Amino acid sequence: MVWEKLKIILSIIIDIFISLCEIPFLIFKTNKNVSTPVRFKSQQQHKLDITQIATKIRSITNHNPSVQIVIDRKSGEGHSTRSTAYKDGKYRINISSLNSIIEINQHEEYAEVEALVTFEEVCKATIKYGLLPAVVPEFKSITIGGAIQGLGIESTSWKYGTFDKTVIEATLITGHGNILYASEVPDLWKNLPGSNGTIALIVAARIRLVQATEWIHLRYVFYPDLSNFLNDIEKKISIQTNTGWIGDNQGIDAIHFCGKNQTMNGIVAMYGGCVSVIPSNASMYKETVFSSFFYQHVKNILTKKKMTNDHNETILYEDYIPTLDYLFRHDRGAFWAAAEVASTDPLIGFIFRRPYLLCLLNHFLKTKTLYKIAMLTSDQKRESTGMIQDVDVLPDRAEEIINWAISKDLNMIWLCPVRCHGTDESFFSVAQPNTPFVMNIGLYGVAKDLPQSNLDLQRLVVKLEGKLALYAHIYLDREEFWSCYNYKEYIRLREMFGGHVFMDLWDKVAGIVFSKISIKR
Ligand SMILES: Cc1cc2nc3c(=O)[nH]c(=O)nc-3n(C[C@H](O)[C@H](O)[C@H](O)COP(=O)(O)OP(=O)(O)OC[C@H]3O[C@@H](n4cnc5c(N)ncnc54)[C@H](O)[C@@H]3O)c2cc1C
Repeated sequence: MVWEKLKIILSIIIDIFISLCEIPFLIFKTNKNVSTPVRFKSQQQHKLDITQIATKIRSITNHNPSVQIVIDRKSGEGHSTRSTAYKDGKYRINISSLNSIIEINQHEEYAEVEALVTFEEVCKATIKYGLLPAVVPEFKSITIGGAIQGLGIESTSWKYGTFDKTVIEATLITGHGNILYASEVPDLWKNLPGSNGTIALIVAARIRLVQATEWIHLRYVFYPDLSNFLNDIEKKISIQTNTGWIGDNQGIDAIHFCGKNQTMNGIVAMYGGCVSVIPSNASMYKETVFSSFFYQHVKNILTKKKMTNDHNETILYEDYIPTLDYLFRHDRGAFWAAAEVASTDPLIGFIFRRPYLLCLLNHFLKTKTLYKIAMLTSDQKRESTGMIQDVDVLPDRAEEIINWAISKDLNMIWLCPVRCHGTDESFFSVAQPNTPFVMNIGLYGVAKDLPQSNLDLQRLVVKLEGKLALYAHIYLDREEFWSCYNYKEYIRLREMFGGHVFMDLWDKVAGIVFSKISIKR
């Protein structure tokens, strides 16, 4: 335990050191490539590496048929708010060799990437060719494998759905130690996304790339309430164009400001798209060493406009942002999660409330580092301090979740529409039938009645027939949880492909709550 914490502290020190090294590059506006050297490898080397992993799985399971295998990522690597306590006593398979890009095919617009390659790495490599993944989850160190297994989304999800829907082909390793292509096993592949590594491993994916440029034009549009925003999304879906990231309205997300000061509240939707030309007198927003968190930029825009006018659906502001800064705009500070949680500590809160002090720290508060810092405290303490949950519900049920969040004193809520393409019956999909989209609602902050309110929220989502993001601690008991998914089919698939060597999904996402967090049921 102590050794585990020391390793996390060392890793935080390394992160801070790398961030320090980046500063001159950022100040002198040269290429920001210090922390993310993009690695490439040949198809042949990739095959050798995955064969080694498959052979290892086969030999461990032959040797010990009741073994439980988990991926050997350390505490704070990855984006689950759960500690890695669930990995104790399990066999940790090392897949760290799967960290390279195998191919970028500019002509056919796809990239072949290994599972541990991060989105920051992929985007840095593909933007040089005027291409980007169709969906780019917003934390720099989310990996390709993690985004498939965790149903990654972001602002282009209103067009494409969850990230897995943009995967053309994937390479999998089953619990039997067999290497399979997704196209050979459609039943397995269809149900794998969202299963959090409990059916099979993903070792590589061929992902769809779409046209993009180095700059995004972003418009900030004000909505006094949710219904107008929802109507606008429906209208946009009906006239959707197939131009990748190019043109207006290719990315849509919003921040619902709902703090105590009601005169400053409302929804600011951000409509973004890539452009080739920037007008000479345009406003620019670039992430610098000293820039504030992105949500503060949006809040400042809202505050300034609120002082002067308050019309329905007005364009509050527009600016131009380097595309990579836009894609990872919420990485520093993990949206507003760091700022909100910091406000509960007298000393850190003091710093966070003073922009001139905070700007000295911002650059070091990358999500990757924040996760590691968070993992230095216990699950009980973390869950009692802040709420971090994402949920997906039908648009007409979003209001109920938002009202619940306001009743629990959350100050900001993230809204990100996610497209539903026809009937999608895969086990863990967030999509629902007979609706053009569902609304992903991000609830991050210091909610009242924690950790109990996590259970209340999750029960409300089940009642509204929505879905929970499984990166969070799940508070539902086994029966409540499996009432949301097709357990019989899940078990059938696991048995068919040797998935029983991976952890059961409920044990993985809820086990810690039931063993380490005390709440009333
Ligand atoms: C505050 C907050 C906000 C978030 N907002 C967003 C958001 O807006 N958009 C978004 O897309 N996501 C968001 N996430 C969630 C995040 O994208 C998912 O948790 C994602 O799964 C993280 O990917 P990772 O690479 O860090 O994987 P990990 O966290 O390491 O893994 C996620 C799960 O997938 C399994 N897994 C990972 N890689 C593989 C593999 N190769 N094969 C088999 N199983 C594997 C792991 O065992 C684990 O169960 C948010 C999370 C938080 C905490």
